[in-house]
Amino acid sequence: MAVRPTILHADLDAFYASVEQLLDPSLRGLPIAVGGGVVLAASYEAKRFGVAGGMSGHRARQLCPSLRFVGGHFREYMRLGDEVMTILGDFTPFVQRISIDEAFLDVTGSLHLFGPAEVIGAEIRRRVREEIGLPISVGAASNKHLAKIASQVAKPDGLVVVPPDGEVDFLHPLPVGLVWGIGPVTQAKLAERGIRTIGELAASTDGALRSLLGAALGAKVGGLARNDDQRRVRPGGRAGSVGSQSAFGRREVSEELVREVVGGLADRVAGRLRKGGRAGRTITVRVRFAVPGAPGRSITRSHTGPDAVCTTLTLAEVAERLVWSALADHPSERHISLLAISVSNLVDQPVLQLELPVGEPTAADETPRPGSPAGSARWAVDHSIDAVRAKFGKGAVGYARVALGSHRDVPDEFRELVEKPP
Ligand SMILES: [Mg+2]
Repeated sequence: MAVRPTILHADLDAFYASVEQLLDPSLRGLPIAVGGGVVLAASYEAKRFGVAGGMSGHRARQLCPSLRFVGGHFREYMRLGDEVMTILGDFTPFVQRISIDEAFLDVTGSLHLFGPAEVIGAEIRRRVREEIGLPISVGAASNKHLAKIASQVAKPDGLVVVPPDGEVDFLHPLPVGLVWGIGPVTQAKLAERGIRTIGELAASTDGALRSLLGAALGAKVGGLARNDDQRRVRPGGRAGSVGSQSAFGRREVSEELVREVVGGLADRVAGRLRKGGRAGRTITVRVRFAVPGAPGRSITRSHTGPDAVCTTLTLAEVAERLVWSALADHPSERHISLLAISVSNLVDQPVLQLELPVGEPTAADETPRPGSPAGSARWAVDHSIDAVRAKFGKGAVGYARVALGSHRDVPDEFRELVEKPP
C-alpha cells in the first residue's frame, strides 16, 4: 500500500497588512488597510470590524471609522514572501507556492528527519515569526484540500493538524464555504436546499449537485466534501507558456472585433498568470485568416520585452498591436476566424516585482512600464479584480473593455480605477 501523504498548507496571516505593521511599529495593534479606493488587505484589527479585501474604501470607513489606510510596499511584500518560501524549503524540496504568501508542502519524506506534522508545523511558525517577524498559519492533513481548510481554521496565527483517522469527523461539521470553489453565491444556493455543512454536501448525490451547480463544479465539490482530493504537491516544473484562443467563424476585420476578442483573451491569460504567480516577457499572437471553403492559414507575431508582463491591460495593448502588425503585412486578407494569445518566457512569483514603484513615469503614449505610476495602478486594479472574482465569481467584475459595459452591478470604485488610472 502506498504511504499516506502528509501535506502542509502554510499561509501568512493578513500578509500585506502584517508587513506594513512590521515595517512601521506605530501601526501595530491598529486597524489598518492597504489600499485606498479599494481595500487590498486588512489587518486582523480591521477585520474585526468587518473590513475585508476587495471592499470599497468608503464602505470600509463606514464599518471602521478609525481605519488607517496605508500605501503598499510591494517590493517588501515580494522580498519577505520569498524569504518565507526559503524557510519552507528547509523542510522539504516539495514546496508548491500558489501565491505570494502561501504554499503547499509535501513533507511525507521529511517526517523521519524532523518529526511529525505537529513538530514541523510548529517549527515553521516559530522560524517565520522569529527570523522574519510575521505570523503564519499552518494546516496539515493527508491531502491538499483538507490541509488548506485546516490552515483556514487555524487562523489567525495558529496550527491545526488533522489526525489521519479523524479527517472526515473534522471536515463534515465545517461550513460549506470552506470548500474550494464555493463562494458566497454558491453557498447561498446550497443553503436554499438546506445544505450548510460540508457533511450535508457530502451526503448529497452527485446528480443533485450537478443539476444545482453545473456538471463541473458539482462533481468537484462533491468529491472534495467526501475528502477525495488526489492532487499532488507539484514543485517547480511549471508550464512553459500560458495561452488562450477564441474561434468565432468568418468575421470581417474591424477595430471593435479585434479589441473585443483580444480584450477577452488578455483578461483570461493574464488572470491565469497572476493566479499561478507568474508573468512572461514574450507575448505571441496568432491570427487565422478565413478563406471560404479552405482551411484557414495562420500567422504568428511575437514581441519580447525587457519586463515580464501579467497585467491585463498591458497584455491587451501589446497583443492588439501585434495583431494589427500581422494584419498590415497581409493587406489582401480582410476576414479572420480565430485569434490567440500566449505568454512565454515565464518567470516565477514576479507578480509584485512588476509593480515596484522604481520606474520613472513614462510618457503618456507609451505602454505603462512595471514600476511606473500607471503600471502600479494597473497592478492594483488587477489585484482587486482577482480578489472580487475569487469571492463572487468571474462575472462579478472586469475591465471596461471586457465586462463593464454589460454589468451594471460593478462598484463605482472599480469603474473609477479602470477608467482613470491615477
Ligand atoms: Mg495569506
